[in-house]
Amino acid sequence: METTSTQDVTVQHEMRLFVNGEWHRSKSDSRLPVNNPATGKVIATVPTGAGEDVNAAVAAAAAAFPEWRRTPAEDRIQYLFKLKNILEDHVEELARLITIENGKTLAESRAELKRTVENVEVACGIPMMMQGYNLEDVAQGIDEMMIRQPLGVVAAITPFNFPVMVPFWFLPYAIACGNTFILKPSEKVPLSMSHLFELMEPLKLPPGVVNLVHGTRPVVDALLDHPDVRAISFVGSTPVARYIYAQAAAHGKRVQCQGGAKNHVVILPDSDVEMATRITADSAFGCAGQRCLAVSVAVTVGEAQRLFRQPIADAAGAIRAASGLDPDAQMGPVITPESKRRIEGLIAQGVGDGAAILVDGRKGAPEKGNFLKPTVLDGVPAASALSNTEIFGPVLSLVHAKTLDEAIELLRQNPYGNQASIFTSSGAAARKFRYEAPAGNIGVNIGVAAPMATFPFSGWKSSFLGVLHGQGRDAVEFYTEEKVVVERWPKEWSRKF
Ligand code: NAD
Repeated sequence: METTSTQDVTVQHEMRLFVNGEWHRSKSDSRLPVNNPATGKVIATVPTGAGEDVNAAVAAAAAAFPEWRRTPAEDRIQYLFKLKNILEDHVEELARLITIENGKTLAESRAELKRTVENVEVACGIPMMMQGYNLEDVAQGIDEMMIRQPLGVVAAITPFNFPVMVPFWFLPYAIACGNTFILKPSEKVPLSMSHLFELMEPLKLPPGVVNLVHGTRPVVDALLDHPDVRAISFVGSTPVARYIYAQAAAHGKRVQCQGGAKNHVVILPDSDVEMATRITADSAFGCAGQRCLAVSVAVTVGEAQRLFRQPIADAAGAIRAASGLDPDAQMGPVITPESKRRIEGLIAQGVGDGAAILVDGRKGAPEKGNFLKPTVLDGVPAASALSNTEIFGPVLSLVHAKTLDEAIELLRQNPYGNQASIFTSSGAAARKFRYEAPAGNIGVNIGVAAPMATFPFSGWKSSFLGVLHGQGRDAVEFYTEEKVVVERWPKEWSRKF
């Protein structure tokens, strides 16, 4: 097998599939390059994938299911305790791989892995979380119980921006609940999950319990079409989320789709402006703005406009964009040259629509790679398409509102509802915001309101299609089916014994 050496980690050069406990070549001969976004260098190739790859993975997962389902929950989680140790023992090499294929800084990659481990820890609680409930004598001599059973074969389709954490919103819960699992990671970042599947081999999970397939739309369509795939979890952009939601539903599957975002932070004049500036800058420009919880619009209320404008411009201007492997990098590149061009185009559109450019990130970034520096636009008109377009890059728009009500109204007009944050020292204002803001994840003096793994990763409006979210109890509900049993055992029958 040809391998790629990424400094101290050697990984497969041609991404293979992990099916039935073994590595295989894709049945498709068509390959895409995987590029390091900081250098443009090709670091691997990934198959575009074929329906036959999916058929093999589903067959392996379906064959493994009956035995895995019978394995006691207590025994299933023993694999997860070991998986936690594997992740922790390999943080540095996994962080390096994430940085090399995604571009984020090493510190950001390590933080992603911390969140990954957290999901494994929570899934170790399945023997408690998967319990049902019961009631004796619902009628005289009749008892009723609700038990949770796994679904069978389930699959997840994940985005480029958190190559390891997002798959782990699903994998640990799915298998701990007794399902067998197929992952299709983003074709832009297939290395770190492939390497993690290699690292998982010593766990000796029964073949077919976890499977990895690679590719693009043909693979997704094959998963959506396959009658033995019971549930689909998707995280990615809203147009694809809508497609997957509709197709999965049409095929009778359980489906949860987390989509795109356009997150607002509201800054009140009574806030600690120094704190609001620091945290908003980190939220807007951290991970090069490629977090689904990144702040994209800062709405200053009243006097906050004057207090916030210059400090946020200064903070943005001071951020050092460099390769994520550089220990002094504060921000890495965006994922692809197309993404860079798209973001530059949106900046130009905002300016064309009347916004003032306070900091122009199109200038002064490293030439090689997909680098942009932070950009701050002031006064993006509500009518501009930029107001409601997900940028997914290091661009912050400043908008002004006279009152908190006006600010919340701006959020209502936003088609997305992934996150909304407020900076204030007023409990009453914070409560009003928490109560009224139309978003699934709310931050109060927080810039990235990412729920811990014990809570659902929420999201409203066009940011989420479905009912049950990833992580926490929602994940357990999503990956299990409720069965209600009503039993009659006449008392007279016990006299025989
Ligand atoms: P994407 O939608 O392009 O791709 C996501 C996945 O879908 C990938 O595995 C990809 O191969 C597949 N895919 C892409 N186009 C497809 C098509 N036409 N048909 C079938 N499958 C297709 O998303 P991305 O660019 O990888 O990730 C960025 C997006 O993800 C942003 O919009 C971001 O907001 C969103 N995101 C959302 C959350 C959340 O929790 N709501 C979390 C992370 C990322």
